[in-house]
Amino acid sequence: MTETKSTCCYCGVGCGVIIEHEAGHITGVRGDPQHPANFGRLCTKGATLHLSAAPETLAARALHPELRSGRGEARQRVGWDTALDTAAERFAAIIAEHGPDAVAVYGAGQLLTEDYYVFNKLVKGLIGTNNLDTNSRLCMSSAVAGYKLSLGADAPPCSYADIAHTSALFITGSNTAFAHPIAFRRVEEARKARPDMKLVVIDPRRTDTAEAADLHLALLPGTDIALYNAMLHVMLWEGWVDRGYIEAHTEGFDALKKIVREYTPAMAGSICGLDRKAIEEAAQIFATSPATLSMYCQGLNQYSFGTHNNSALINLHLATGQIGRPGAGPFSLTGQPNAMGGREVGGLANLLSAHRDMANPAHRAEVAALWGVPDVPATPGKSAVELFRALKSGEVKAVWIACTNPAQSLPDQALVHEALQAAEFVIVQEAFGHTETCAYADLLLPATTWGEKDGTVTNSERAISRVRAAVPAPGEARHDWAIVVDFARRLGARLGEAELAARMFPYASPEEIWNEHRESTRGRDLDITGLSYALLETAGPQQWPFPEGASAGKVRLYEDGVFPTPGGRARFVATEHRITAESPSARFPLHLNSGRLRDQWHGMSRTGLVARLYSHESEPMLHMHKDDMARRQLADGDLVKVKSRRGDVMLKVLESATLRAGQCFVPMHWGANATGGLGINVLLPADFDPYSKQPELKHAAVQVEKY
Ligand code: SF4
Repeated sequence: MTETKSTCCYCGVGCGVIIEHEAGHITGVRGDPQHPANFGRLCTKGATLHLSAAPETLAARALHPELRSGRGEARQRVGWDTALDTAAERFAAIIAEHGPDAVAVYGAGQLLTEDYYVFNKLVKGLIGTNNLDTNSRLCMSSAVAGYKLSLGADAPPCSYADIAHTSALFITGSNTAFAHPIAFRRVEEARKARPDMKLVVIDPRRTDTAEAADLHLALLPGTDIALYNAMLHVMLWEGWVDRGYIEAHTEGFDALKKIVREYTPAMAGSICGLDRKAIEEAAQIFATSPATLSMYCQGLNQYSFGTHNNSALINLHLATGQIGRPGAGPFSLTGQPNAMGGREVGGLANLLSAHRDMANPAHRAEVAALWGVPDVPATPGKSAVELFRALKSGEVKAVWIACTNPAQSLPDQALVHEALQAAEFVIVQEAFGHTETCAYADLLLPATTWGEKDGTVTNSERAISRVRAAVPAPGEARHDWAIVVDFARRLGARLGEAELAARMFPYASPEEIWNEHRESTRGRDLDITGLSYALLETAGPQQWPFPEGASAGKVRLYEDGVFPTPGGRARFVATEHRITAESPSARFPLHLNSGRLRDQWHGMSRTGLVARLYSHESEPMLHMHKDDMARRQLADGDLVKVKSRRGDVMLKVLESATLRAGQCFVPMHWGANATGGLGINVLLPADFDPYSKQPELKHAAVQVEKY
């Protein structure tokens, strides 16, 4: 038996794993005791990773390139040359006829940093469009926009180590116990070690995380801004703000003060559905604790005002000086293993490499010089929802989808399925051949996955970890980066840029790609010029920034109170409460909330292969309050039709004491293949935040009827 160290491919905790393998097969997995994210522990998902790679799961894998000659035809197995020549020909023809903006790539936070880098360079450098977006748009883009708006850069200032130093932990919009279980183990340990540490949970549901809290604020969905403004109102009234910190390190406080004057606890309580005393207590804990840490996730991000949800929370940290110290600060939890790495290489339609700004001509020129191209386009590309709308309308004609399943995971599934049907050419690059999106592939490209590929990922706390191959690729699957490089050279030849493409994509290994990415960070806030694969090998995961000459990365940012804004000051964002994209009505009277289960992950393309992971919840159920069930004469297990303005889905119903009356909850994981129809996300709206373009996946107004 041989052992190979790698990183778990599920969530943003980024736990280290040791893969056990024999004769080319993965036989076991255990936590890496030396990895700083988990110190040997794994949750149920991580601990069953080897089962998701067991020989019997091969039937679910995409193993050979497949091509179909036309819509309605079955795909036929082809060789890689035919597959990539066809892809290059179709892309080149569309670009020649309609211009570069007629093609697009849609990727994922599960891609490794090296994969992301070459996709970004292909699209923005060689093709010349910014139409590259990823499923990180559904996950972290409001956190990105919130950090940039308030603090000046997309840089989470804290670390998981801060959990052990905080005296008050606010978990907001996150069921950490389920979604980031090993981070939650650290919370439990910290509370055991320091019983006076307070845990405050802000969540519409009484989740397992909320159950553990000293104070649970079960606010109405989408009312976070009103709550935070009211907490600031109380802090001002009681003299709990840190005026010295505000004066020395921030700007814009007066404008915010004017707004929060109106947000009395009673007024905000009526918006949030909370008792004013609970708001006052939360404000006191937040402001008067020696160190307050906020951990937050999709409950803030997935709203059509997600950016301002983030900024309103960061306002509290700035107003109380709860930032830049051990155990204090705002800390976004990334949903995916490498959403951070994607952001670092500029892997979204509005970003450029190494946190450069697409709107900044000097930054565009720097990226063009790094890549050896005349320029990179200035106009932002299409974000996730915009991209699928453009596919449907015909504005974008070809899409290359890599490592994600938008026909399950995007909101408004009716739109997504119509868009994929309308597209002229759909490439799907996937490890698993059974996803809903694969059904739309004109060309299916088999990719390697966890346990088979090499590279790096960055977790929520800016720590870069190595991912390593333990076993060979199955069938004819190839590494994502290698597919892109091969395609780029073939496309370059067809665009009359063969020499340029060969110069741009010379890589023979992921390390060569990473070294180029590293150079792109020189002098930037995420400078990693002091790192190397060799150092990651010997010293283990490292946090950025880690510039040349440094002996360690930074555990904590902004300790000096200087922020990466033009004036060096953090910015208060004066923001008002706003309403969700949909309000309950007579026809759609219930609030629907969506989220993760403990043992499933995203669209279940991997966790769905492991029988053991169904023992916690075996099927999607609609969780409802007993009063709402009684009104509809429903009993546990009854089949109901859940309907929103976009479509409906049939589910069994389950009484739940975790919800208030008037609200219901559905797990996010099941798509059309499992539920029939168009899956859970047919219910959710595609309305998105105007700044982050992140859609409102956390809320819809629905009706529920007995079937
Ligand atoms: Fe994997 Fe996240 Fe579980 Fe760690 S906490 S084992 S990274 S799923």
